[in-house]
Amino acid sequence: MSKEKGFVTEITPQGEDFSRWYIDVIKKAELMDYSPVRGCIVFRPEGYELWENIQRGLDGRFKDTGHRNAYFPLFIPESFFQKEKEHVEGFNPELPWVTEAGGEKLEERLAIRPTSETMIGHMYAKWINSYRDLPVLINQWANVVRWEKRTLPFLRTSEFLWQEGHTAHENEEDARKETMTMLDVYTDFVENELAIPVIKGEKTPSERFAGAVDTYSIEAMMKDGRAVQAGTSHYLGTKFAVAFDIKYLSRENTQEYCHTTSWGVSTRLIGALIMVHGDDRGLVMPPKVAPTQVIMIPIGPPKTREQVIAKTDELFAQLKAAGVRVRVDDRSDLSPGWKFNEYEMRGVPVRLELGPRDLENGVCVLVSRVSGEKKQVPLDNLVAEVQAMLDNVHREMYERALQFRQEHTFSVETLDELRSSLEEKRGFALAGWCGSEACEKQVKDETGATSRNIPFEPAETKTKCLVCGDAAKHTVVFARAY
Ligand code: AMP
Repeated sequence: MSKEKGFVTEITPQGEDFSRWYIDVIKKAELMDYSPVRGCIVFRPEGYELWENIQRGLDGRFKDTGHRNAYFPLFIPESFFQKEKEHVEGFNPELPWVTEAGGEKLEERLAIRPTSETMIGHMYAKWINSYRDLPVLINQWANVVRWEKRTLPFLRTSEFLWQEGHTAHENEEDARKETMTMLDVYTDFVENELAIPVIKGEKTPSERFAGAVDTYSIEAMMKDGRAVQAGTSHYLGTKFAVAFDIKYLSRENTQEYCHTTSWGVSTRLIGALIMVHGDDRGLVMPPKVAPTQVIMIPIGPPKTREQVIAKTDELFAQLKAAGVRVRVDDRSDLSPGWKFNEYEMRGVPVRLELGPRDLENGVCVLVSRVSGEKKQVPLDNLVAEVQAMLDNVHREMYERALQFRQEHTFSVETLDELRSSLEEKRGFALAGWCGSEACEKQVKDETGATSRNIPFEPAETKTKCLVCGDAAKHTVVFARAY
């Protein structure tokens, strides 16, 4: 009994302490472990497999939109950073430096990349000569380092894994189109594969990427009402082109600067999907990226075991051949109840139970992790039934998350209303903003909420600034964020 219960009762309930719950879950489900280096985590196989599935979904979408992968160096010469003033100011506080190598002091310090606009800008200047070379559409899968003051596994780490897309175009129109295309690609991926509804919008100037003309983001609501910036896409104008001399001979035979973009999502997505979908029993993995989509658990007394296992193996092969990520737990020293708890804690979307009576009747039982629904299905239609349940689980997860967000989104007129709403209800607040940095800062100083973005499609349009009462230029989503 104690062993069976142990898995679940050791997880702090979400309502008691959400942060504690998060750490309990990711450690217990063996997604990560802390490393001896501050802010740097180890991705254990279960966590890394989740990342590989995320990578696969994104990489396919990048290629479908015409991008190719390349790889650039980890070290960036200090002089590169000095070339773009805002970029260096933004990133300097977070840069780790290599000053010595091979036992000698380096002539020029090397930064460990926090992002690669500078290195890639340097290379694009060499590769791009004429309009015929454009557009350049490249993505890199890499690790980056930003020496963060506050860290939280997956959501904000000092070293993290990500992809960074870097593109160069003939003109502003093409570059802006690319910026939006990639924001749409992220939205499609996060909503349709991670089952997380997002709010698409533009960042306010104070929240822009260092060196961008415009930054766009997708924002998601976690189960404690806080926001996570799930992805960003930047229109960089000609700022990096001027800094790195990325010029081309135009169709009119003139020398022009390229317009560039960059866009990225990171292993932060893992933290987001955990905080959006998890519950008091543990993780709930979105089926499309779950390392294990179906866990098969053969049950019954020892005398029928051989028969049940043989059928389990046969069904396993069928599911695997159909592309389902399926595993079998046939350990005989653990009870079915213990296994049920374990895989619920690990968030496996569908459990398949097969016992001797089921075998006789040519059926098995499928159980949904998200709704607990139990369904007896005929074995001769197993693949289709499993696929249908996985689709249902995905849909239900998305709908639940959307409903939660709707229930925790409120509309406020004043700073006082924002403050009390955040305390009482937790979540996102839609408010008017005059556009002044001072008002935005006051919101942050007095409530701890930051502007998440200016949504493209706000549920309503606000007319007055929540701080100064002047006419609102924008309707903004404010929230406390990770
Ligand atoms: P940026 O280059 O700053 O626009 O970052 C691109 C994306 O990387 C952001 O939208 C975040 O989702 C993610 N990100 C930024 N900083 C971190 C961090 N310290 N840990 C994990 N993910 C991060």
